[in-house]
Amino acid sequence: MLTIKCSKCKNKLFKYKKIGKGKVLRCWRSKITRVYDTTVEDNHLKCGNCGNVIGEVNNKKIDMNSSSFTYSGTKIEK
Ligand SMILES: [Zn+2]
Repeated sequence: MLTIKCSKCKNKLFKYKKIGKGKVLRCWRSKITRVYDTTVEDNHLKCGNCGNVIGEVNNKKIDMNSSSFTYSGTKIEK
């Protein structure tokens, strides 16, 4: 499980069940297991603390801005 954090203010954003070793480019909404502090405005996912735009919300996934977040935790092996 990965914990996604804002790269600007280090606020915890959400927990994500990442499968495979690849980069975190998009997050499937169905694999977000816990939301800590985010807001959605005009299809942009933002940090609930500082308003940093984390990604773009689409139907089933979030296209992530790679410079807007950091993560810790482990990816699940396929
Ligand atoms: Zn932030």
